[in-house]
Amino acid sequence: MSQVWAVHAGWLIPVSGPPQRHGFLVIAGDRIAGLGPSIPEPYRDACRVCLDLRDAIVLPGLVNAHTHLDLGGMATVRRNATVPPAFCDWLRQVVAYRRTSAQQDWRAAVRQGLEQSLRCGVTLLGDVTADGGSLEEIVRSPVQAVVFHEVLGLTKARAKQTWEQACAWLSRRDSWPNVRQGLSPHAPYSVRRGLFRLALHRCQQDNLRLMTHVAETPEEAELLDRHRGPLRDFLETLGAWDEAGLLRGTERLRQLLNRDRQVIWVHCNYLVQPPPGYVVWCPRTHAWFGHPRHRFAEWMNRGSVVALGTDSLASSPDLDLLAEARFVYKHYPEVQAPAVIRMATMSGAEVLGWADSVGTLEAGKLADWIAIRVPQAQWEKLEANPEDAVLRHPWPVTDVCVGGKLLIWEGRAVADNENRPESAARGDGWPTPDG
Ligand SMILES: [Zn+2]
Repeated sequence: MSQVWAVHAGWLIPVSGPPQRHGFLVIAGDRIAGLGPSIPEPYRDACRVCLDLRDAIVLPGLVNAHTHLDLGGMATVRRNATVPPAFCDWLRQVVAYRRTSAQQDWRAAVRQGLEQSLRCGVTLLGDVTADGGSLEEIVRSPVQAVVFHEVLGLTKARAKQTWEQACAWLSRRDSWPNVRQGLSPHAPYSVRRGLFRLALHRCQQDNLRLMTHVAETPEEAELLDRHRGPLRDFLETLGAWDEAGLLRGTERLRQLLNRDRQVIWVHCNYLVQPPPGYVVWCPRTHAWFGHPRHRFAEWMNRGSVVALGTDSLASSPDLDLLAEARFVYKHYPEVQAPAVIRMATMSGAEVLGWADSVGTLEAGKLADWIAIRVPQAQWEKLEANPEDAVLRHPWPVTDVCVGGKLLIWEGRAVADNENRPESAARGDGWPTPDG
C-alpha cells in the first residue's frame, strides 16, 4: 500500500459538497483516499502522519484557465503604464516583444511564472504559447497544464506556415503525466477562416481542447462585419491584412465554433448571448482595459460553465488566481461565494478537460489541495461561511500540495531532499493522527 497520511483542516471546502468544519483529508500516494469528519476506518492504522491545519481553510488547487507565461517579460509594460493603452497599441507592444525577446528570456519568464503560479496555489494551468514554446518548461514542473500552441495568420502564406509548425508540435505528442496539448487559433481578426476550420477539425479528431480569444474589444465586430476600424489599420501596418481570409462576420464565427461544445471562448467581453462552449473570463485584465460590465453571471444562471484566468502579465498585475476570484466577489456581489470558488477550481478543470482528476476534493482524484492559514483573531468570526471568508480577506495561500506531495509548507518551498512533512515518521516532531 502506498504511503498514507492525512490533514486535519479547520475548514475543508471540497467544492463537490458543503464545507466541513474539522474535516480530515486522507491521502494515499498521489491520490485522495477519502475525507470526512474523522480519518475513515480503513486508513486509520496505515495513516502515519496527520498534519495539523486546524488553523486553516483547505480547498482544491486553483485553476488558472488562461494565461501566456511566455509574455512574463512584459510585466514592466503593464506596471509602467499609467493609463491602459488603446487595445491596438497594446497589441503592437505584444507583437514587438514577441519579435525581439530572446529564447533564454522568455524561457526564464515561463519558469518564473510557474513558480509564481504555484506559490499562489495554482496547480492546473491553461497556457497559450507562441510555437508551443512553454511546453518543455511546464513538462519539467510539478504543475498540471494544457499547453495550447498558438496559431496565427490571416494571409495564406502565414496561415500555412503556422499550421505546419503546429502539426509538427502536435506530432511530439507524448504521455507526459502532467501536460496535455491543445491548439489556440489566436482570435477571429488574426486567423484565416480556413485555419480556424483546420484547427477545429484537428482538435475534434484528436480530442484536444481548442481555445480562442473572442470579442475582447468592440473593434473585433467592426472588423468582421464591416472590414474596417483600428484592427484593420493594425493588421495593414504589420503587413498581415488579407480581406479574403477573414471570417464572414461574427455570426459565421458562432456557427463555425458551434460544431464543437468543447471550444473554450476566452474574454467574450462584448457578446450578448452566451457562447455555445466553455467560457474563460479574466476579470482584472477586463477591468484594466476598462471594458463594460461582463455578462458572465447571467450566462452562468443559464447553464454556462465559466472559469477564471489571469491572462498574461502584459495585462494582469500578477498570476494570482485567488486575486481574480476575490475581484469577482467584490465587484459582482450577485454571484455567491461558493459559485466564485467553483469558477476558480472545478469550472477551470472542466473547461480544460481535467475534471476527472482535479478540481474538487473527492476520493480517487489527485491530491491537489491548498491551505490558507487564518489569523487567530479572525478565526472566531468565520462562523459557517468559510468560502465568504476566503474571498473577503486578503490572506495568502500558505500550503500547496500537488499529487500528494507538499511543495509549499507554511509559505516556504519544501526542498526534495529535506525531511518532508508528509513523510515524517510518527513522533518525528509532526503531529500524529491522535495528536
Ligand atoms: Zn490571452
